[in-house]
Amino acid sequence: MKTLKVNISDFASFMGFCQFGLLNKLHLGLRKQISPSAQKGKLIHRILEEEDRLIQREMATEAQLQDPTFDLDFTREGITVNISRFSNDLRIFYVGRTDKVIRKSGDICIIDDKITTKPLSIIEQSFAKTDRFVPFSDKIIQLAAYCEGFQRNYSHMLKYNRIFLKVVQRDQNGKKINEYVKEYDEGLKDFLLQNLKLFESMYFKEVEPVHHNNPNKCRKCGFFDECSWKIKDTI
Ligand code: SF4
Repeated sequence: MKTLKVNISDFASFMGFCQFGLLNKLHLGLRKQISPSAQKGKLIHRILEEEDRLIQREMATEAQLQDPTFDLDFTREGITVNISRFSNDLRIFYVGRTDKVIRKSGDICIIDDKITTKPLSIIEQSFAKTDRFVPFSDKIIQLAAYCEGFQRNYSHMLKYNRIFLKVVQRDQNGKKINEYVKEYDEGLKDFLLQNLKLFESMYFKEVEPVHHNNPNKCRKCGFFDECSWKIKDTI
């Protein structure tokens, strides 16, 4: 049987940012350019990873893993997840690596650090409008997929009550500005499943992608130079 490996971050970007990214990358084989802000984000992630390595840890015992009241702090970037699905005689592996996972007070929390390039004044304005920080849907889809993968891959190894996703918004220096926490519940599981099915339908060309018609998205997209679907008035 043929297999297809899809990075969870790509899947989330195709479904939450721009569906034409799927055509560009998976149908046409185009490579995404990495923006300066994404490079800065990678650097901050590396610094956070190095700081995390300095924390003294002891290997958890089998009994501690099975005791949900025992708090766990997994090494940053140390947990990989995999969702395996079958579609049209193709086995699809959605794979990814979490930024950070902890078990606290019996619950698992999957944490993702999002580095913003916006000035603090703009962030405060948008925060005042919504009353709280809400990540874009591509980030929610990505974290929901990590939660699903964690449930499938690790539930036999350790006990926990509920599973949460957390997005930590940080500035260019890595300082925490906001955070968003949501339980991975049945509603979110269903939202993820709808997105997995839509991704697969678009991959097999059963469904046409829908354009966001947002020139701002095109302007900051890594496929901009080569994309045939970019919005004309941005050229
Ligand atoms: S350039 Fe625009 S249409 Fe093309 S993939 Fe990027 S966001 Fe989508």
